[in-house]
Amino acid sequence: MVSTGVALVTGAAQGIGKAIALRLADDGFDVAVNDIVANEKKLSSVVEEIKAKGRQSSAHLADVSVEEDVKGMVAEVVRVYGGLNVMVANAGVCKCALMTETSVEDYDRVMNINARGTFLCYKHAGVQMMAQGRGGRIIGACSASGKRAGSAFTSAYVASKFAIRGLTQSAALEFGPHKITVNAYAPGPIDTDMLDYIKTSHGSAVPAHWQTAGTTGDIAALVSYIASKESGFITGQSLSINGGIYFD
Ligand code: NAD
Repeated sequence: MVSTGVALVTGAAQGIGKAIALRLADDGFDVAVNDIVANEKKLSSVVEEIKAKGRQSSAHLADVSVEEDVKGMVAEVVRVYGGLNVMVANAGVCKCALMTETSVEDYDRVMNINARGTFLCYKHAGVQMMAQGRGGRIIGACSASGKRAGSAFTSAYVASKFAIRGLTQSAALEFGPHKITVNAYAPGPIDTDMLDYIKTSHGSAVPAHWQTAGTTGDIAALVSYIASKESGFITGQSLSINGGIYFD
């Protein structure tokens, strides 16, 4: 099959990012995948899974919170594939602790990876796509926590996901005239290692509505649509996908 385009997915060694990368490969995209050095092995096996689907793939080790890493990663993807059509800024971390017990170091780490990382991915994908002049799709990872705080133990995470919602709206305004849409998925609880960590850290304080989780495939199916040509009239949105735990 002729390639649908070139996608880059960050934090794609596992969880939601991996599911998105595999789904975009099924949709006909060649998919470059990113994660940190500590997850290199898992990232390599995602590359092999994508290649087994008959699409091109490559692993790009980079820390999304470091501008030189993100800039270099986008340049490398463009060098290998000749362009970039879809950027999925999925990488993220969570730290669970009451605000009064959250250190500045933990707060900065969550904000740097989630908010600054998304800013850098949006920025450098936007620069590249505007230079190409062919439009594009930029997609971020917001959360139900980017709409309202879901527990007292996630203040840094909540702040970072509210920031992603704001960045998504701002980038949509800036890149819209270039036919580049910018949207985010805003999931409720999804069955991944991150959710296991969040539930374990909350102990008996886990909200009841977190017990019913969605799957990574649920998010990948939404991203498949936002990444498609058909979604061109949607931009600036952080789309709730949460099983109805609340309504926007
Ligand atoms: P996960 O922990 O399973 O995967 C996150 C991936 O990001 C990991 O592979 C990790 O190595 C990578 N990563 C971490 N720091 C990085 C960095 N600095 N640079 C590059 N990669 C880095 O988590 P997940 O559940 O798959 O979450 C994916 C995204 O979806 C996150 O942004 C998360 O906040 C968001 N989200 C998850 C849920 C959920 O319930 N699982 C709900 C709402 C939003």
